[in-house]
Amino acid sequence: MNNLEDYLPYVSSIWPHLLETIIVRGEGIYIWDKTGRRYLDFTCGIGVTNTGHCHPRVVTAIREQAGRLLHLQANTAYHEPMLLLIAALQEVVPSELDTFFFTNSGAEAVESAVKLARQASGRTNVIAFERSFHGRTLGTMSLTSSKIIYRAGYQPLMPAVFFAPYAYCYRCPKAEANPEMYGFDKGCDWALEQVNFLLKSQTAPEETAAILLEPVLGEGGYIVPPSHFLLGLREICNKHDILLIVDEVQSGFGRTGRFFALEHFGIVPDILIMAKSMASGLPLSAIAVRGEIMNRWKPGSHGGTYGGNALACAASEATIRVLQEEKLVENSARFGKKLMDRLNSLKESNQCIGDVRGLGLMVGVEFVVPGGRSPDGKKAKAIQKSCLDDGLLLLTCGTDENVIRWIPPLIINENHLEEALNIFEHALKVTANS
Ligand code: PLP
Repeated sequence: MNNLEDYLPYVSSIWPHLLETIIVRGEGIYIWDKTGRRYLDFTCGIGVTNTGHCHPRVVTAIREQAGRLLHLQANTAYHEPMLLLIAALQEVVPSELDTFFFTNSGAEAVESAVKLARQASGRTNVIAFERSFHGRTLGTMSLTSSKIIYRAGYQPLMPAVFFAPYAYCYRCPKAEANPEMYGFDKGCDWALEQVNFLLKSQTAPEETAAILLEPVLGEGGYIVPPSHFLLGLREICNKHDILLIVDEVQSGFGRTGRFFALEHFGIVPDILIMAKSMASGLPLSAIAVRGEIMNRWKPGSHGGTYGGNALACAASEATIRVLQEEKLVENSARFGKKLMDRLNSLKESNQCIGDVRGLGLMVGVEFVVPGGRSPDGKKAKAIQKSCLDDGLLLLTCGTDENVIRWIPPLIINENHLEEALNIFEHALKVTANS
């Protein structure tokens, strides 16, 4: 065999790599490269390794399951790990969502939710939100508008998708024009008005199958909406018999300091989408659905070979038990607050930080040109690069890529947080004039 480096040219280069090195091991909050260099991984596989890299209980569950049964197609027969997983999921999802359908990726689960909504309602149209991200398959990129790169060159997309603006308070046009009168904290409901406007102008309620949204916008900039946005959407859905689909692919499994972000807002959707951290790194996703809606899905009309794979289900059940028994959801809330406090105090002394927002350990720092609100993507990239040089991996997000997102594993402790924040503070200093 040649050196590993000799194979690098054969890796498809559709995405630039954050780290130009070969990673050989992960444990807890750290990963190590071939040379033995250690990195603090605050990217968490983009919100996948919430229990940390290679959590021993998850690894044991995978090992034991691998020796018993690797796979059985879900239509062939019921298998034990899937049923054990359903029992665990019932403890963490709203009790109204009592049936489950398993797939392999976030995008596949979103596709399933939309297909189910269409068939169950007999309606065609879907309302999604500007800046949202729901995946990169042909169907889900039609529902995605976080960045042009996901759509350019792939048009025409799936029709019957209508976009409304998300409740992005920091950039609310009404509040920006008249800050004295408007602002979500003052009860402004501009974003809800826009959804109602869509229903009056572009997609008739009786043709609208679903409203699909992320309860906290992920790829679009780590944007936390006010509660009354989600409550208002629930009311609109109730009024017009439209299904509310909540995509918790990134925000679920303890990320926001609650098991699911929807708990912060007091709403229950008709369909809940989950993936990413669900199985701590094994490919698994699911939708949880009100049984009465699931019953309207024509049996056998949708499915796949690997959905609900036995190994992934075993990893997922272990993941839920670890989150519960090690109190990682509480840890997320606790350290999220500490992180926000420190970032907010850095905001006071750094004019390049326009906004700090988040729930639990899903925290965004938005960079702007000092003195205004113009997005500064260059600054965010410079900060990210400086942190990387000092061994801290962070990702950016947002349409203008001007938001640094903080998504560390939920096993984080004081030392990890201190180490990461010191590196970040240093990056702010060294990039002060860039
Ligand atoms: N939905 C949300 C909110 C996401 O953040 C993502 C991925 O980042 C997806 C869907 C798509 O998931 P996947 O990449 O597993 O297809």
